[in-house]
This record gives sequence, C-alpha cells and structure tokens, in this order.
Amino acid sequence: MWSPWVRRSKGSARLTQSPSFSLSAPSSTKDHPGIGAVLEDDAAAPAAAAASAPSVLHRTRSASKLRSCKSFAVGEAAAAASVAGDRRVVLYFTSLRAVRATFEGCRAVRTILRGLRVAVDERDVSMDAAYLSELRALTRVDRPPLPLLFVGGKLVGDADEVRLLHESGELHRRVLAGAAPAPPAACASCGGSRFAPCGACGGSHRRFSDKTGGFRVCAACNENGLVRCAACS
Ligand SMILES: [Zn+2]
Ligand SMILES: [Zn+2]
Repeated sequence: MWSPWVRRSKGSARLTQSPSFSLSAPSSTKDHPGIGAVLEDDAAAPAAAAASAPSVLHRTRSASKLRSCKSFAVGEAAAAASVAGDRRVVLYFTSLRAVRATFEGCRAVRTILRGLRVAVDERDVSMDAAYLSELRALTRVDRPPLPLLFVGGKLVGDADEVRLLHESGELHRRVLAGAAPAPPAACASCGGSRFAPCGACGGSHRRFSDKTGGFRVCAACNENGLVRCAACS
C-alpha cells in the first residue's frame, strides 16, 4: 500500500496541523467537488476544525474510511506510477488566486524550485482536474492541501515544509540531490504552460454532433478545453 506521510511522523504532524488539511472535514454533498471545493475548503477548514476539534482517534477512523473507499483505491496505483521515478520531482499546485495563502504558498515553492534549477514536473490542478484526482489518490484525502511536493515517488511536504527544508539547505543538499537539471529553455511547443488548446473543439470543450443535431462534450480535451503538450507533458 502506497502510504507516503504515514512513515514520516514529523511530516504527518505538520500536515495534519495545516488549516487546509482536514481528514475529518465533512464530505462535499456533490459527487465531484472539483477544484472550487478544494479552494473553498482552504477558507472553510479552520472554522470546521475549530468547531469539531477532531481527536487523533477520529482522524485515524476517518483515514481508514477513506482507504476503504473504492474511488481512491481505483486510481491509487496509476497515481503512484505517475510520481514514481528515480529522483523525479513532481509539484502539485494551483495557479488560481482564489485563496491567497494557497496561491502564495504555491508561488513560493515554484520560485524556490526554479532557483535550484532542477527539472520539475509541475501539475497545475486548476488547469486539469485529472491532476487533482491523481493527488486525491496519492494522499487518500478528498481535499488535499496545495502545494504538495513529491521527489522520487515520496511526499516531501507542503509549502511550509519545503520552505523550512530550503532555509536549512536540506532541500538542495539532500532532498533534491541527484534530480535532473532544469532544461535550458522553456518548451518550444507550449512555452512552458504544458497545455495547448484542443484542436478537435477549438478549446470550447464542446463539439457539434451530426447524429443528435446538438452539442456534446469533447472527449479529446479536459474540462478547460485543453490538451497536455505532447512535447513536454
Ligand atoms: Zn510543452
Ligand atoms: Zn476538445
């Protein structure tokens, strides 16, 4: 069973203290809460946490409930494979400014990693909800905090942990040791955005169907009418 932070008592404690990380927060009433729900949760979580003041036991119970949930189990192996790889650096983040603390944490971690000139597989959950599904499967949490950094398939931590590791020099010396260097220039195909507008629907995510005489969802792109850049993603 892939279980990143369970093995790291310090990291686990840090993450469970994070206002945006709450295993015991009430589930969304919607089947697919989406990115909006993750971002809303950032603001709502402190209030919820204060109201319920969940105990460690409560968290353990909620966590095991999540583990037994099929929707997490299904994508777990695929998600683990997507971050696996010797010294591979993967960052899940959002480029949306909806929640200031989240946005600034994401920006800070991206800036730190750029400064260290390592190749980072940046996965913007606001550009593609599939990244959010991956992260849910990896963390087994419905509303994972952002950003989260993985190196070599293992969770390094959130913005505060990355900052602390950077300040102590450990990030460069130990965590990122052996990571591939950043490419000298941005991808010529997408300019570094890692996405391109869908050619099949022109980026509208809708296509006219001759069969039904109406519009249907485009199967070739994501919810934003984007496809991942073939050259760099
Ligand atoms: Zn590209
Ligand atoms: Zn499309």
